[in-house]
Amino acid sequence: MRRIAVLTSGGDAPGMNAAIRAVVRTAIYEGMEVYGVERGYEGLIDGDFHEMDVASVGGILHRGGTVLRTARSERFMTEAGRTKALAMLETFEIDGLVVIGGDGSMHGAAELEKAGVTVMCLPGTIDNDMGYTDYTIGFDTAINTVLSAIGNIRDTSSSHERTTIIEVMGRNCGDIGLHAGVAGGAEQILIPEIPLDLNALCRKILQGINRGKKHSIIIRAEGVELSSEALGAEIAKRTGLEVKIVVLGYIQRGGSPTARDRMLASRLGYKAVELLKANSTSKAIGISGDEIVAYDLSDALEYKSELDPTLLALAEVLSI
Ligand code: ATP
Repeated sequence: MRRIAVLTSGGDAPGMNAAIRAVVRTAIYEGMEVYGVERGYEGLIDGDFHEMDVASVGGILHRGGTVLRTARSERFMTEAGRTKALAMLETFEIDGLVVIGGDGSMHGAAELEKAGVTVMCLPGTIDNDMGYTDYTIGFDTAINTVLSAIGNIRDTSSSHERTTIIEVMGRNCGDIGLHAGVAGGAEQILIPEIPLDLNALCRKILQGINRGKKHSIIIRAEGVELSSEALGAEIAKRTGLEVKIVVLGYIQRGGSPTARDRMLASRLGYKAVELLKANSTSKAIGISGDEIVAYDLSDALEYKSELDPTLLALAEVLSI
C-alpha cells in the first residue's frame, strides 16, 4: 500500500475527527501518502480529494463533527454514481480506502469491495446500532450529553413536581435511551425494542407520586411508536398530571468527544492502517470487550444490533 484515502459518511459523530487523525498519522508514520475525501461518497464521486499531512490533523482531536465534512449521497446509491467513484479512486491511484460511518456507509463500502476496492470500515455513529461492535464512535459522548441534560431537567422537574418526557436519538436502536436512562436514574425508559405498556407506565408514575416522588423523568427513544406529543397527551389524560416534553435533538450529535470515544477512535483508526499495510482484505473494525476486532464486511453486515438483556433487567430493577 502506497496511497490511501479516508472519508466520513452518514450522520456525523463526536470522535470522527480523532479517527481521521489516527488514520492520517499512522499512514504517514508507515510511509504512506494519505488523501482526505470531502463530504463522504459525494466527494468520492466528484473527485474532491486533497492530500493530508501531519499538521492537517493538528488541533482536531478534541473537536466534535468531522473536518472532512459528511453527507448522505443519493448518487452513490446508483450504479452510475458508484462507477464515477471507482474511476476517481483509479485516477488518484488510491490503493485502500477507510470509511468512517454507520450501517448505510458500510453497505456502500461493501459495494466498493465487490468492485475490487480494499475498504476498512470504522463504526462512526452515535446510535450504537452496529451489531458487530460493542460500541460505535460517538455513542459515549452522546450518552454523556443526554446524562447532563437529564441532570438539568431533573432539577427543574423536581422544583415544579413535573413529569417530563425527554426524547433522545437512536433511530430504531434503544441503546442511547437505555444507557443514559440507567446512568441518569430515569424513572421510565421507553425504547423501540420493548412494547409500550401505557397502563404500567401510568401506574408507575402514580405510585411514585403516592410514595412522595417529586418528579418523573421518562426517557423516550425516538424509535418508540407513539410520538412524544401523543405520549404526553395520553399520560396527561390518564393521570391528570402536567407533562412537559423536551426533545434533545441535534445537541446529541455534537460536542467534544469523551476520553472513551477518543481512545476508541484512535485505536480503530490505527488498526485500519495496520491492516491496509498488511495487505488485508476489506474489514469492518470494531471493539469486543477491550479487544479490537476485524470482520469481513459481509459477516459484519450480518450481525444484528441487540440490546444487552442484563442492562434491561438492571433498568427495571433500579427504577422501581
Ligand atoms: P448514520 O447511522 O449516522 O445514519 P449511516 O452511514 O447509516 O450513518 P446512511 O445515510 O444510511 O448513514 O448511509 C450513508 C451513505 O451510504 C448513503 O447516503 C449512501 O450514499 C451510502 N449507502 C447506504 N446504503 C447503501 C447501499 N445499500 N448501497 C450503496 N450505498 C449505500
